[in-house]
Amino acid sequence: MNLIYCDHSATTKIKREVLKEMLPYLEESYGNASSIYDLGLKSKKAIENSREQIAKAINSQNKEIYFTSCGSESDNLAIKGFCYANKKKGNHIITSRIEHPAILNTCKALEKEGFEVTYLNVDEKGLIDCNELKKVIKKTTILISIMTANNEIGTIEPIEEIGKIAKENNITFHTDAVQAIGNLKIDVKKMNIDMLSMSAHKFYGPKGVGALYVKEEIEFNRVQEGGHQERNKRAGTENVAGIVGMGKAIELANLNMVENQEKIYLMREYFIKQLEKEIGKERFRINGDRIKRLPGNVNVTFYNINSKDMLNNLNQMGICASGGSACSSMCEMPSYVLTAIGLNEKEARSTIRFTFGEDNTISEIQYVVKCISYIIKNRS
Ligand code: PLP
Repeated sequence: MNLIYCDHSATTKIKREVLKEMLPYLEESYGNASSIYDLGLKSKKAIENSREQIAKAINSQNKEIYFTSCGSESDNLAIKGFCYANKKKGNHIITSRIEHPAILNTCKALEKEGFEVTYLNVDEKGLIDCNELKKVIKKTTILISIMTANNEIGTIEPIEEIGKIAKENNITFHTDAVQAIGNLKIDVKKMNIDMLSMSAHKFYGPKGVGALYVKEEIEFNRVQEGGHQERNKRAGTENVAGIVGMGKAIELANLNMVENQEKIYLMREYFIKQLEKEIGKERFRINGDRIKRLPGNVNVTFYNINSKDMLNNLNQMGICASGGSACSSMCEMPSYVLTAIGLNEKEARSTIRFTFGEDNTISEIQYVVKCISYIIKNRS
């Protein structure tokens, strides 16, 4: 049975070209980038090359990119590192209710240390209200952290507008762009983004490597003690092969972004149309904004079938999808993102996330829709 992978927001398959670039740094060029002999210098050079590829992709300077181990670490470093370094200026953070746990749990941890956090509500499409954001800003607000695109419903937040509001109020703006990088064009200068988190495995790079962009003049502390790697901001021997893969992956993603995303977007729309045709509009609804949305994301509530049953059936038919975010797919609780946009518990437990990617084909989409239709018809 062929595997049909429709869970690209959980992770992506590494590209062959990316793996090819990485292999020498796992085999013959295994030097520690901190070593002063040629073998080490070769690793250091490879890291700096990747830093340049990443900086170029988001229009930052090379020295504004810090490598980490994943998106979660980047989020932790951004929020904690910034708040610890700037607590004399204030203790108030603004974020949203639908952020990834890497942000929400970091904020909760900071609340225990005396920071104050405002969690903005979102509307039924998952969008924050910029007027509400303006209203909750205080004299003590030092940081706004709003994700670029949501991992469950795919909604794209008004990042440029948020960046403008932050700048006008002299507040630092962080965005978790883990789902966006590789799918959307990001320009940190144009969008007034001060800090940005990303993770290679979401854009056909390897797992175990992420990066944090921090604008040159922003002060932040290291949160992990150790050596002086990453200009003293992130201790630990660098994952050279992973970093090399991340650079190559972001370069490839940006190179073909418009055509790839157009193809994926058309596939998503075809999937929705086919669902309407095969099972009928009245049997499901699409969650999130229909326009301001990641091209490959379809978050769909199927009435009268719970997501666990649907996912198990799909799995038996060789189809990978998810019931919420990857991190919560094993969790018994209904998704907090879905309840934040107004779904009741039953609806939230009947919701599946399909996220399409570069390798999906129209015939795969047809097969997935046929399987969904079969599962639904054979239940009711
Ligand atoms: N932020 C968002 C929006 C995500 O979707 C994810 C992962 O799904 C993360 C952060 C965490 O990234 P990582 O898996 O690299 O730790």
